[in-house]
Amino acid sequence: MGSGKRSDYLPEDERGASFAQIPTSFGHELRACLRCRLVKTYDQFRESGCENCPFLDMEKEHDNVVNCTTPNFNGIISVMDPARSWAARWLRIGKFIPGCYTLAVSEELPEEYQNICADNNVLYVPPKRT
Ligand SMILES: [Zn+2]
Repeated sequence: MGSGKRSDYLPEDERGASFAQIPTSFGHELRACLRCRLVKTYDQFRESGCENCPFLDMEKEHDNVVNCTTPNFNGIISVMDPARSWAARWLRIGKFIPGCYTLAVSEELPEEYQNICADNNVLYVPPKRT
């Protein structure tokens, strides 16, 4: 990585985890993280976890992928600059890294994982019940 400040113009291979993986397919295996709503394929979550939620340890414990992500979600938005996107702020993903996100998940993160969020001082916002 080398010195200091990140710019928007780094070559892709130097960005590290400042960008989330983009889903490699849009089929039935797409899943959304229940905490940050990042959308990737099941395999991507299993191989590299969730870039916003490393404390969920999805790449180490594959059960966590099943428990912390869901195939049931509506709509995808891709966000290149969450900090400056009104849509990202509206979706409360303004502090997350660029990537593909879903507009809404209907399931809540299981309680034991909500506790993990709390232990890591991470805010978890449950979906609004309608
Ligand atoms: Zn996440």
